[in-house]
Amino acid sequence: MREVGCPEEDLFSFLSSKRREDLGYRHILSSMCTPPHPVAARAHALFLETNLGDPGLFPGTAALEELLVRRLGALMHHPGAGGYATSGGTESNIQALRIAKKQKPVKFPNVVVPASSHFSFQKAGDILGLEIRTAPLDARFRMDMEGLDDLIDQNTVALVGIVGTTEYGMVDPVAALSDVALDRDVFLHVDAAFGGMVVPFLDRPVPFDFQLPGVDSISVDPHKMGMSTIPAGCLLVRDPDSFACLNVDTPYLTVKRECTLAGTRPGAPVAAAFAVLEYLGMDGMRAVVAGCMENARRLIEGMETLGCPRAVTPDVNVATFSCERAPAGWRVSRTRNGHMRIVCMPHVTRDVVEKFLEDMGNLNA
Ligand code: PLP
Repeated sequence: MREVGCPEEDLFSFLSSKRREDLGYRHILSSMCTPPHPVAARAHALFLETNLGDPGLFPGTAALEELLVRRLGALMHHPGAGGYATSGGTESNIQALRIAKKQKPVKFPNVVVPASSHFSFQKAGDILGLEIRTAPLDARFRMDMEGLDDLIDQNTVALVGIVGTTEYGMVDPVAALSDVALDRDVFLHVDAAFGGMVVPFLDRPVPFDFQLPGVDSISVDPHKMGMSTIPAGCLLVRDPDSFACLNVDTPYLTVKRECTLAGTRPGAPVAAAFAVLEYLGMDGMRAVVAGCMENARRLIEGMETLGCPRAVTPDVNVATFSCERAPAGWRVSRTRNGHMRIVCMPHVTRDVVEKFLEDMGNLNA
């Protein structure tokens, strides 16, 4: 650290120079994040110093967190769901599996996840001492229900289904998983970190949430398609009491118990997440999602015209292609199978899609 502090203007010119090294979102086609909605940025600024780690000191912010949970619970067909604002899908997935493990104390616990699951489940397995059993995918990159029964045994503490897979944007057969979960009496966690803010706003949403009786918990991330500021995730549970098994005593805080993973927790992105939901409403979110889905369709059509076939028709706004090269200046990503992957986030507007297709066309010319 410096012995004597740096003049503010020098400091900010250094910070600005670093910020300029970042890529602008306009050419980022690989991210599940997007610039925050203007109301999110405004709400975030208002709650900058709030700390949900000691909610009694910030009762207004804590009430907003409850409202956020209630809104998301209602969106997932269970207004009475329990929940709290996490730092994102990773924390939500870890905490859900922590609950599942506590609920079924066995010596060698395992969890069955689809091969498409996000790498956060590997972290969860490592931290929680869970064997991660991987179920294969079908030809459309969804969890294959054939053979699932054989992966489940008396040590299986949870099943996981994904709504909006990170790589291919697919929705697992959660209704069938729910039946298996009930039949085998296993905790079912739905990782809807991405798709949880997409599927409910589609014209014909497939059931994936608490309306399915076997679903115990859901991860949903406002900082992805919810256009909140980062970090804003949410873990929802069917039974609010299921958080009790995670409680630790916090004698010197305003609340005497805490079930969250983080201690100090930012209130600002919670206010931001709530602000977007409130400002846009169902109508506004439907319009955003319809735009993203339409752009994904146009991208797929345009890429196929250029000789780059889709890997699969996605359920949400993630498009993947058999395509070797991407034009310079654009950030696309690659799936583990080598497909080009483009996430049609709100910042990937129709203009952006057309420009990318034009550059792709010039590449092949
Ligand atoms: N689950 C899914 C399906 C995801 O796509 C992601 C991230 O892309 C995560 C979990 C992890 O979310 P985060 O990066 O917010 O921890």
